[in-house]
Amino acid sequence: MEKLSNPQVTIEILKKYNFAFQKRFGQNFLIDPLVVEKIIRAAEVTKDDIVLEIGPGIGTMTQYLAEAAGKVYAVEIDKNLLPVLDETLAEYHNVKVINNDILKVDIKELVGNREVKVVANLPYYITTPIIMGLFENHIPASSITVMVQKEVAMRMQAGPGSKDYGALSLAVQYYAEPYIVANVPPNCFMPRPNVGSAVIRLTKHARPPIEVCDETLMFQLIRASFNQRRKTLQNGIHNASDLSFSKEQVVEALKTLGLSESIRGEALTLAQFGALTNILKQMK
Ligand code: SAM
Repeated sequence: MEKLSNPQVTIEILKKYNFAFQKRFGQNFLIDPLVVEKIIRAAEVTKDDIVLEIGPGIGTMTQYLAEAAGKVYAVEIDKNLLPVLDETLAEYHNVKVINNDILKVDIKELVGNREVKVVANLPYYITTPIIMGLFENHIPASSITVMVQKEVAMRMQAGPGSKDYGALSLAVQYYAEPYIVANVPPNCFMPRPNVGSAVIRLTKHARPPIEVCDETLMFQLIRASFNQRRKTLQNGIHNASDLSFSKEQVVEALKTLGLSESIRGEALTLAQFGALTNILKQMK
């Protein structure tokens, strides 16, 4: 069959199945072959690869992934899309469609604990839980190449001092190296989303770039520091209900690091958050 990235083919299939878009599932299907090709190229998919696709929709990107990869696992929550996928993926024998919520799937069990490349045009309403779930559950993903809301891509890639820098930047950069591959305008999707989009590739670090004695504590400190953006880091940490450091302890730790006691979270690098964690941990 002709590829679904041709908008006419997508329109015909949607009509044939009388498909009704579900807003609650973040359904915006790609209708631009150049964008799909760009994603596949950025993901560097080869016949040796196992790919996990989150939300195949009607199978637009899945068709390309099936041609490029050894095996594709495609997890789709909307059961109304199953008969459509049966038809659009009929000629590809290396695709397994799983009808489930990606947040409930045991991915390690699904892929047999083998290394995968994650490739997806993500449902935007759950971008952060999906990405953080892949990292925190230590899914063996060597890279994650995904379409996300442009603003979220910028937050993932931002560094200290930028207005986009925050807890998401630090979490993503602890696990991976982000690289924005392309910006994608709304007219590349059907229906058009009311936000801009971007393709971002997150290449997993073999080892985290910093040494920290307690990851959980570091992420608690990071969240506390960015919770109230206009407050100093000292106040943010002191006021956090899940932490029990006195102002004096935080000030002493900052001093040891050569940092001002009025510094804000957005000025600290990941390495500095790591060092702060190691010092505060000793004071516990
Ligand atoms: N990959 C297709 C494309 O690019 O045309 C569709 C992308 S669309 C932005 C997101 C897809 O994710 C939809 O098919 C939607 O039904 C599916 N989806 C939404 N929430 C999901 C979840 N929790 N688990 C699995 N799939 C989900």
